[in-house]
Amino acid sequence: MRAAIAEGSDAMPHDRAALTDALLDETERAIQADRPAMRTVVNASGVVLHTNLGRALLAEEAIEAVAQAARSAVNLEYDLAEGTRGDRDFLVERELCALTGAEAATVVNNNAAAILLVLNSLARGKEVVVSRGELIEIGGSFRIPDIMERSGALLKEVGTTNRTHPRDYEAAIGPDTALLLKVHPSNYRIIGFTSEVSLPEMAEIGRRHGVPVVEDLGSGALVDLGAYGLKREPIVAERVEAGAALVTFSGDKLLGGPQAGIVVGKRELVARLKANPLKRALRCGKLTLAALLATLRLYRRSAELDAELPTLRMLRRTTGELGAMAPRARDILSERLGPGFSVDIVESTSQVGSGALPVEELATVALKVTHPAMSAEAIARLFRSAEPPVIGRIKDDAFQLDLRTVEDASMLAVEFAKPRS
Ligand SMILES: *Cc1c(COP(=O)(O)O)cnc(C)c1O
Repeated sequence: MRAAIAEGSDAMPHDRAALTDALLDETERAIQADRPAMRTVVNASGVVLHTNLGRALLAEEAIEAVAQAARSAVNLEYDLAEGTRGDRDFLVERELCALTGAEAATVVNNNAAAILLVLNSLARGKEVVVSRGELIEIGGSFRIPDIMERSGALLKEVGTTNRTHPRDYEAAIGPDTALLLKVHPSNYRIIGFTSEVSLPEMAEIGRRHGVPVVEDLGSGALVDLGAYGLKREPIVAERVEAGAALVTFSGDKLLGGPQAGIVVGKRELVARLKANPLKRALRCGKLTLAALLATLRLYRRSAELDAELPTLRMLRRTTGELGAMAPRARDILSERLGPGFSVDIVESTSQVGSGALPVEELATVALKVTHPAMSAEAIARLFRSAEPPVIGRIKDDAFQLDLRTVEDASMLAVEFAKPRS
């Protein structure tokens, strides 16, 4: 700057205060540039499975398994008994079959990839029958008709938005039908004058015509969430039992594991997925498989799943528990924010997120932050620029921090940027 001023640059501030600000800006830019691009943030949005914030947090066992696999060579696809190349799915397949009662399983990068692989392997150039009430779009531009087109399968829509009947599927089945597809309407509900064909009914129709039924279950709970005081979601094992030839679901939604797309079902169909060259293109790496395997082991072995899986742990937190931590969280935040700001404890509602239990709102406790001279958006911006950044939400024109996803009050002891002159 000195050099620039000596050269007579007019762009440089000459008074002391402006120069100080310019230097602070420059310093901040340098600090920012030196930071890792992916940063830890505080999820105070209350959305337990926030896609933009990376969805499920892993259990400690899964984190440990990832670290181990990262540090050393592993028998990822190596048969230790034979000393030969093995099947990459072998390790998780056993756990998945035990948990779901399915004959076989395979794992790819995410549920979108799982559906792409199923459609391309089983229905390329053939028809897939789907109800018009289930032609979903999930955030991040995942749409059933689009993925269908890219897979090479031909979409055959049946029924109407609100009502689809068994006869609609019956009438649509012909010599070119490869599959009947059922899609879980993850992020919306059709209510009122509605009717859908249940999976057992679809399976029966499929059986009569020799056409397999595939279900995209979206979230895919492995256990009954009702046992944890939450609303029940369809359980994968039940869908296998009810006649789905294949079921696809995500690893990082209600399951609480790493991003992955899981397919379980009939051995002969899974074998066709594994033989597709796309499987090679969509496969998971060792870090994902290590995390998934450790998470599935918890489902099989842990007596306290809801204590060990952060997703379940957060979903289960009661307003009593949240209310108990709220005063300390408020005090920490008030102290960090300094004078001018009000921090109040309020009752609010959280969402599960990622399309899981979309209409289910969980009663929660939040901190409402206000300032007489700042809009809710300006306060949200201030929190995003904190170190670490804090992501809240704006509700009823006020900025709120939902304590459901903040596991400890000390996480709110963040550094706010100093206001400028
Ligand atoms: C979330 C979801 C998907 C996409 O899964 P990703 O794991 O995000 O790729 C597909 N179908 C349904 C019904 C979903 O809920």
